[in-house]
Order: sequence, then C-alpha cells, then structure tokens
Amino acid sequence: MAILDVAKLGNPILRKKARLVSVQESQTSAFQTFLDDMIDTMREKDGVGLAAPQVFQSVQAIVIESDENSRYPANPALSLLVMLNPTITVYSEETLEGWEGCLSLDNLRGMVTRSQKIHVDGFNRFMDPISMDAEGFLAVVFQHEIDHLNGTLFIDRMQDFRTLTHLPEYNLYWSGQQAVSVSGVGPTET
Ligand code: ZN
Repeated sequence: MAILDVAKLGNPILRKKARLVSVQESQTSAFQTFLDDMIDTMREKDGVGLAAPQVFQSVQAIVIESDENSRYPANPALSLLVMLNPTITVYSEETLEGWEGCLSLDNLRGMVTRSQKIHVDGFNRFMDPISMDAEGFLAVVFQHEIDHLNGTLFIDRMQDFRTLTHLPEYNLYWSGQQAVSVSGVGPTET
C-alpha cells in the first residue's frame, strides 16, 4: 500500500491531456500496483474519485468509490470502479447542479452544472471493455474524473464564481441550503 502525492492547482500536469493506457502496459505489475495505490490514495484522502494526473501520471485511468459512511452521507454509495481510457459517448440535455470539490483544489467548493445522465465506454483494469449508463451522483463523478484526463478542472465548468467557497464558509453558510443544491447532490471531492 502506498499513498501517492496529489498534484495541486497550478501544477501543469493537471492541465495536460492524459495519454491512453496500452494493453501491454496494463498487464505490467507496476501498472496494477499503481492502480491499487490510486485506490488507497482515494480512500486515505476521503475522495470519491481520483484521476491518474492528480497523482502525477498523465495516463487515462480513474478510480471511483464512495461508501455510505463517507463524509458525503447525502450521496448514494458507489461501489469501487476502476476505468481505463474512458470516454463519455452520450450526455443528457437534462442537467443537475451540485457542489463539487477536488483533492487538487484544497478546501474549495463550487456549484457546477453537469449532465444528469451519461453513457461511458472504457475498459476495466484488465482491459476488458466496459459500457455503462450512469446518472445523478455517479454521472457527476464520472464527468469530474474524465475532465481531469482532458486537463479540465471543476472550476472551468462553473457558470458563476459567486458560489466559489472555502470549506469552512461552505459549512457555515451553504451546506444546509437545499435551494442551491437542487439535485440533492452533496459536495463531492474527487
Ligand atoms: Zn478532482
């Protein structure tokens, strides 16, 4: 088990497009260990998702997981998902707004509008194809993580910076206000 360092806002690796993972690379023990380290890091840092560029590897790998006892109790639990070379092939026109945070942007929250439903194609850690629909919280986490693979951060998706908030102020002034979280999606740190 290894906890990896997390790249923070301003590090150029967060702004690069990540390269595809090859089949050959995915079969190496070094890469499989890296994926396990990503999972350990996500859990250690209390994230609900992590993308490889956030831990200084510019490759297309993401991990997602949230348990019911996480610090986001308003959100449904998400079972562990590892996806390589993911692509969102369908975005619903229907959107939802929710608070997002990011392990690469310490102590910040902001309201982001995302598609309510998406379809994702990609591969599992053994390069078997995965094709799945996601909606609500899971769809938001997918969009946030796959954005990381394209050098995009949640702040780039914000339509109004007036909701950009430090975490203590979020807890003081915003967390209980259902009206601003129309979807019921709580803050996510991914
Ligand atoms: Zn993030």
